[in-house]
Formats: sequence, structure tokens, C-alpha cells
Amino acid sequence: MKITDNIYLAASGSKWGFGITHELDCNVYLIDTGSGCILIDAGAGLETEKMDAVIHSHGYELTDIKKIILTHYHGDHACGASRIQRAAGCQMYAPAAEALAIQNGDETATSVALAKGGLYPADFVYPKSVDVAGLHEGDTVTLGNVTLTAYMVPGHSLCDMVLYGTIDGRKCLFTGDAVFVCGQVLIQSLPDVSLYPYACAMKRLAALDIDALFPGHGVFVLEHGSVHVKKASDAFQSGLIPPQLYYFV
Ligand SMILES: [Zn+2]
Repeated sequence: MKITDNIYLAASGSKWGFGITHELDCNVYLIDTGSGCILIDAGAGLETEKMDAVIHSHGYELTDIKKIILTHYHGDHACGASRIQRAAGCQMYAPAAEALAIQNGDETATSVALAKGGLYPADFVYPKSVDVAGLHEGDTVTLGNVTLTAYMVPGHSLCDMVLYGTIDGRKCLFTGDAVFVCGQVLIQSLPDVSLYPYACAMKRLAALDIDALFPGHGVFVLEHGSVHVKKASDAFQSGLIPPQLYYFV
């Protein structure tokens, strides 16, 4: 699905999204930088021919992907990355606190072990990757005419990462599962969840000037993105928890 001149929705499952690829896939965004593509998140790695078909339908090959940036280590975002890295020979990035778990396919740290036979199929495997570069607060990734700056948001997982940069004239924030439209969040009863650090990080994000908000699930918006982040931050600052992400199934 083409979203703007150079941003495409390469995958999105029906459980929390548009239903164009496997039902467990998060929203995967493909950015054409003029010198190859950046992939934001990689989906669950199931029925991958569906995502490949979407990418091909827009005239791209997997080998056009030069960098994969993973917002966090959950299986529905990260488990598709290893296959693409092998096919494209591309660099992979993740939040520094989660990079090793992704590289090692650590099913305990990533909570995939808890979800097997439930959210994920019983035979689901978290694949290993190589050379996953860890990013810290303020680090940047540049390819072609796109530079994305990383912000760390511990809360939904050990340390989610959101990415901020200008693309096609819009100030864009790719949020993974840190915040969704209408200020929704997804707080699960998992060992790496934290609330107060989440609230503090969201307050920092609320200071950003954001046009387009591209979350890891559900709809995206192309203008007034700041409003959605501020809504989540305001709920946290009032001492409460923002509303949970809607769920289709
Ligand atoms: Zn997640």
C-alpha cells in the first residue's frame, strides 16, 4: 500500500491492522530514500510470500532493502528480519538494550516463549540474526536523503525505540508499539513492562513536532501526529494509564 511518495506499507496483519499480509504481522513500513530502502520493522516472518508480493507490487526487490530498523524485539515486529537480512545482505539496527536478544533469537527475553501455543503458533521459532547494531538515544541512521533519529521508550517492552525524521516534507515519527493513534498504548502482563519510565519517555516525545505518525499497529495519520502522542502523555502525567490498543479478534 502506497502511503506517500516514498513511504509504503509493506505488511500489516488483520489482528491489529490492515490485513494485507499474515495476521500476526505488525505494520511494516518501506521507505525509498533515493539510494535504496529502509525497512521499519519486519513482521512475524510467517507466510513471507505475502509481504514479498506487496514489495514487488510497488516495483522493489528485497535486495533494494539496505537497512532494517527494528523498533523492539517482540516476535511480530522482529522475527521476519533474519530472512530479509540474509536475502538482502543488509544492516540491521535495534534498540541497544534489545539488540543482543534479537541477534541470539532469545525466546525468553523477548517473551515469545510465553506466547507460543497462544498468540504465536506452537512451533514458532525466533530466528537468529547477525551483527544487530544497537542504537542509543539520539543516534541517527542515514540512507540516501533520509535521516532518522532514535528515541528510547522503555515501557511496552524493555526498551522500545521510536524513529523521527522528515520524509516527503512531513515530520514523521515511526512509533513501533510505544504509542498508537488516539494516544493508545499496549501494556501487557509481561516481565519487561515498566510504567513510570514509560510515562517519562512519553513526556519527551510529546515535545516533538510531529506531522505523520506511523505506529506498529492500527491506522497511521499524515497530519497532527503530535496530538496523538500528547494524548498518551497527558494520560500518563495525570497519574493514569492511557487506553489500550483496540484488538480486532
Ligand atoms: Zn510489541
